[in-house]
Amino acid sequence: PSAMREVQVEVANVRWGDIGGLQNLKLILRQAVEWPLRHPESFLRLGVTPPKGVLMFGPPGCSKTMIAKALATESGLNFLSIKGPELFSKWVGESEKAVREVFRKARQVAPSVIFFDEIDALGGERSSGSSTSVQERVLAQLLTELDGVSPLGDVTVLAATNRPDRIDKALLRPGRLDRIVYVPLPDDDTRREIFKLKLGKMPVCNVDVEELVRLTPGYSGAEVNAVCHEAAMMALEDSLDARFVEKRHFEKALTIVKPRTPDSLIQLY
Ligand code: ATP
Repeated sequence: PSAMREVQVEVANVRWGDIGGLQNLKLILRQAVEWPLRHPESFLRLGVTPPKGVLMFGPPGCSKTMIAKALATESGLNFLSIKGPELFSKWVGESEKAVREVFRKARQVAPSVIFFDEIDALGGERSSGSSTSVQERVLAQLLTELDGVSPLGDVTVLAATNRPDRIDKALLRPGRLDRIVYVPLPDDDTRREIFKLKLGKMPVCNVDVEELVRLTPGYSGAEVNAVCHEAAMMALEDSLDARFVEKRHFEKALTIVKPRTPDSLIQLY
């Protein structure tokens, strides 16, 4: 059906090395997704059931999408990505069909990963009566599809949200998104690694990474990235012939790019 052509299959191109820091988290996810796919016999031998699906939660811009892509890249999986709200907007009146279609496509191009970003769009807490009937039907369809995915099978489901409080509990039952990981704001180590990755590609002069780390608690990964980008813009503003991005450019960038994750969000986690 024509409306469904929009489910894109991608070959993801993010390596673990592109993601700064987060060593522990990377290991947990590799254990959950990569190992069972690569060594199913080991899991079967020990009678361990790997998770069928993984839910990542945490503030925006902290690499959930990058992690999903790295899992796909490093395990050689096709990558299908869909944002929760798209299920409603792109396929008006056909949202359940869209869910079926995503899974059908994923099986067709297996081994594959389906990444549901903003999965909370499907929730809306049924108990509070705030979800609409189309949400309920889409959620029901998603649960059916999840139940049909076999563990150690060829389709892995990953999901992400900033609002874990809005996730319908039915999605989290065993055999569904049964591994839940918190992807926090980057700590000092992780920010240091992100800065090093970015500054590795940018000629800098008199820039002290340690100082940048000290000045950026509360910044998300995306905001750290924005600081570097903004600093380079400042250098170009000074002169289009600039050969280096300098300390003062970073200082200026830090006055422009401020951490914006609301406390109320952090308190949810
Ligand atoms: P959202 O919740 O807004 O979808 P997200 O958690 O999925 O965000 P990403 O899209 O993966 O975040 O990250 C946003 C951008 O921030 C990335 O494209 C990257 O440039 C940068 N970034 C975030 N975390 C890291 C990291 N650990 N290492 C390198 N870059 C990072």
